[in-house]
Amino acid sequence: MSTHEIRVIGDPVLRTPAADVTDVDGALVRLSEDMFSTMYEALGIGLAAPQVGVQKRFFVYDHGEDSGVVLNPRIVESDGEWAFEEGCLSVPGLSWEIVRPKTIHLVGVDLDGNELSIEADELEARLFQHEIDHLDGVLLVDHLDDEQRRDARRALNELTVARPSQSGGSFPMDTGGRSSGGGLHLP
Ligand SMILES: [Zn+2]
Repeated sequence: MSTHEIRVIGDPVLRTPAADVTDVDGALVRLSEDMFSTMYEALGIGLAAPQVGVQKRFFVYDHGEDSGVVLNPRIVESDGEWAFEEGCLSVPGLSWEIVRPKTIHLVGVDLDGNELSIEADELEARLFQHEIDHLDGVLLVDHLDDEQRRDARRALNELTVARPSQSGGSFPMDTGGRSSGGGLHLP
């Protein structure tokens, strides 16, 4: 098993909706093993394929109580609201309190082709929603309110201060055109 580089915000692969998994072959099984290694090394509890540059709809997870690989996941029901401080391996070092549904019903398929049906609550539900976002090209920063977005802009700019840049230190977001100010483009 080996680890992969985790793509970070600004990489277009994180903004591209992933395609359904249609075939489970040895390469996909090996990739999911590598994704577990990558996730453990980064101290994460979930990792979606686009985060290692693969545009396929699946993710791996291990939140301590349960772990697995979910192919073609879908949320068929969600309920409640829960605020939780949420971070992302692709937005390193930053986190925000974000409100999402508290419970969800997730369906999908595992590597052996078995149908999965999981009633998830709180952390597990949060994790699944976050990983499915990645498969849709959605990032944590898309869920921020106006005030959080202002903070995010500042924090992401600081992240790039040390980086030589042609664009005046702006973060290379791929969500829309450049503004005249050359700043961030958080939606
Ligand atoms: Zn993430």
